[in-house]
Amino acid sequence: MAEQTVVVVEDEENLLAALQYNLERDGYRVCTAIDGAKGLELIRENAPNVVILDVMLPGLNGFDMCRILRRETDVPILMLTAKGEEVDRVVGLELGADDYVTKPFSMRELLARVRALLRRPRLVKSGASPEAPHEVLRAGDLEIDLSAHTVNLRGAPVVLKPREFDLLALLVSNKGRAMTRDAVLERIWGHDYIGDTRTVDVHIRWLREKVEATPSAPKRIITIRGVGYRFLG
Ligand code: CA
Repeated sequence: MAEQTVVVVEDEENLLAALQYNLERDGYRVCTAIDGAKGLELIRENAPNVVILDVMLPGLNGFDMCRILRRETDVPILMLTAKGEEVDRVVGLELGADDYVTKPFSMRELLARVRALLRRPRLVKSGASPEAPHEVLRAGDLEIDLSAHTVNLRGAPVVLKPREFDLLALLVSNKGRAMTRDAVLERIWGHDYIGDTRTVDVHIRWLREKVEATPSAPKRIITIRGVGYRFLG
């Protein structure tokens, strides 16, 4: 497999050195920056496979970077947040980050998250090549074939509209994680979509009718009051 590149932007130099050491030991090519402007430059030059961004950075912070990057690239972004920055977590994800870890974290955990991001199927908008292996997400008796754009429930096909399919794939690939309505709206409908988060609620309702045994008492797609949704399994 070709060497994969990770760009790390972190202003705590000891942590940055530790991240670089561990990522390199895991076989990645690592490019580092200690501020946002240099980080953006590195990302644009190196087209990395994963980007790791600290939230609090001098000058351009991790959120600013995330917002800018999402207009340019689909690269998986892992945010490093300081302890207690609960709001940061949500905001980070709303900005289009893919995952976060809270400091202090273990290198083992961080490396596992990086590997997971590299494995996670991207929501490819264009058709994959016919030779490509099918990427299938499974959750209990639900099977989502991302390449064929088909869904099976207990072995029987489920017919979904394109947006429903994208929404289900997004929820399942973020299994167990709370997704805010805004984050879902941005990821599925795009940031230039003119509409509101009720669009998300409506599609969730349709989706429940198709994948829940009892749509009025959902066991898979759970509502988190005031926040959004979580896919349980
Ligand atoms: Ca920092």
